[in-house]
Amino acid sequence: MRTLGLTICALILASCAPSAPSSASNTTAPPPAGQATVPTQQANAALAARLPLGNPSDQTDAERGRLAFIDAPAILSADGNVVWAIPQFEFLNGDAPDTVNPSLWRQSQLAAHHGLFEVSDGIYQVRGYDLAVMSVIEGDTGWIIVDPLTTTETAAAALKLVNDTLGTRPVTGILYTHSHADHFGGARGIISEEDITARSVPILAPIGFSTSAVSENLIAGNHMSRRSTLMFGNTLPRSATAHIGSGLGPGLPNGTVSLILPTEEISGRGTIRVIDGVTFEFIDAAGTEAPAEFMFYLPEKRALCTAEVATATFHNILTPRGAKVRDALGWSRAIDHVLAEYGDKSDVVFASHHWPTWGAENVQTFLSDQRDIYRYVHDQTLRHANSGATMFEAAEAIEEPAFQTEAFNTRGYYGTLNHNSKAVYQHYFGWWGGVPADYNKLPHEVSAARYVAAMGGPEAVIDLGAKAFAEGDYRWAAEVFNHVVFAAPDNKTAKDWLAATYEQIGFQAESGAWRSYYLTGAAELRRGVPDVGNPGLGNKDFLRAVPSLDLFDAMAARFDPAKMTHEPFVVNFTFTDTGETLSLHLNKAVIVPREGTVSDAAASVTTTRALFDQVILGETSVQTELVRGNFTIGGDIGAVSAVFQSLDRAEFWFPVVTP
Ligand SMILES: [Zn+2]
Repeated sequence: MRTLGLTICALILASCAPSAPSSASNTTAPPPAGQATVPTQQANAALAARLPLGNPSDQTDAERGRLAFIDAPAILSADGNVVWAIPQFEFLNGDAPDTVNPSLWRQSQLAAHHGLFEVSDGIYQVRGYDLAVMSVIEGDTGWIIVDPLTTTETAAAALKLVNDTLGTRPVTGILYTHSHADHFGGARGIISEEDITARSVPILAPIGFSTSAVSENLIAGNHMSRRSTLMFGNTLPRSATAHIGSGLGPGLPNGTVSLILPTEEISGRGTIRVIDGVTFEFIDAAGTEAPAEFMFYLPEKRALCTAEVATATFHNILTPRGAKVRDALGWSRAIDHVLAEYGDKSDVVFASHHWPTWGAENVQTFLSDQRDIYRYVHDQTLRHANSGATMFEAAEAIEEPAFQTEAFNTRGYYGTLNHNSKAVYQHYFGWWGGVPADYNKLPHEVSAARYVAAMGGPEAVIDLGAKAFAEGDYRWAAEVFNHVVFAAPDNKTAKDWLAATYEQIGFQAESGAWRSYYLTGAAELRRGVPDVGNPGLGNKDFLRAVPSLDLFDAMAARFDPAKMTHEPFVVNFTFTDTGETLSLHLNKAVIVPREGTVSDAAASVTTTRALFDQVILGETSVQTELVRGNFTIGGDIGAVSAVFQSLDRAEFWFPVVTP
């Protein structure tokens, strides 16, 4: 038990110099930021001793066939902003510092190799300028681009590097392997819609692409995007004490995301298309890593592209940014299918992230290891769950399988056994583990205050957490400090301790996503939520592709019933450019969108869908467009105003690590 004098001293110290090391007590303040504790040093050293990190095969593959690189300090946007600094990961040299998990350090070194690489005859990749990889296949007359990166700026720079190095050729085909933006967002950087029409350039994507690309992130987009900033470490510096890579790729570029919809969506397994003289055999993999995804085989080149289904990491069954949970068993089966069908016909396998694997035997080993890790987490979670384990117990019980020691591509650089096991549990059983006390728990802010009171008050709880911290028991320390932070978010001492704890967890994490999430969490506890203004509310390209009914559903999810004082009513909408009619049915507590109009509506709005999108994006308002005559409203104008005034506009930078 501490004395009152020490408590006051601690409070004063905490308020004056929260990060300063203290000789008085563990509890006065945590150790300085940016330093690995002894337990963290020991954990990282133990992993380095256990894994064959010096095995050079991945290093050889990651550097193989490099033809050129971008010899400029940065890829810039049209207005001169840095979209991608080159090189931003130069510090990743030599052995891992003690502030980085040595296995993640190795993975980040491999992912940081940048340039244009020859994969095999007529197949190239641009790597290291984006989260994803752009593959380029030589057709009879031009380039077939596979996955034009996340932003128009990085995609344009990648294509320029290809043309400058190999000779300028037109883009004669584009493939989007799946519906995630890091694989299609740069399309406008390599081609225009006019060009596509004028030259009949095919854009092929997997079945369901258009719906998934625009809808997956629409209704839940604000929450997902905010959590993405933690997961990808967007607000962290690049350094050995901060962001060093995501595990999936170096990082996200800060540029313009576009969307050009495909000209054809491909379904089935073994579907053949010939693009610019090159034969593609497509293998549908919907519901694995993305809701819409395909892999493909190039028979003339004996090359297999596994898109993002099989890459040089264990991927996420449920990404930390949040998404609908994925199917680990279906994922494993899809990889087994390509192993069985194409494994002995492939001299190289390349993907939409990371470097290729060469040699028939290596290809088959890679595919079987990838298949096995998804099946392992699936089967073992169910084995434990069927024996009565809850979600957390199953995740705790699953041990690292022996093959992960050698097969680096199966290690948890992005997804982890821990959170993927929880995802498998959720896929089958939902979030609840079946214990009644957990079914209707108090909100954490409420229970945290009661825990802190029951444990003797904030000082005593911080003491307990500091003791756990000193012992290197960071999971427990995080839980203890988090109670104080959620009970009293202004308690700076508790926040500094929790930040220090998150930092050590981040320094030990093998997953780049975990590292960035914990380290961003630490930064937000120390400095608060970034004050950088709200990012754009959306993107015209994306919104234009959203079906009107889905757009209205997204509006309905912003409806705050407390702001609606009117009795139930209906507003009709007619979009003159798309020829659509819809209606919004304002009820007591919900908005129900429907196709078609009703005869007894309180008001009828006539405009274009394009202008309506601008209102949704906040670029203009109903009032402004009414004055301009671009919105026509029949009936009760007040009813239309009431609809728009009842919609929440969510803050992007909502607190995550504090209540
Ligand atoms: Zn990706």
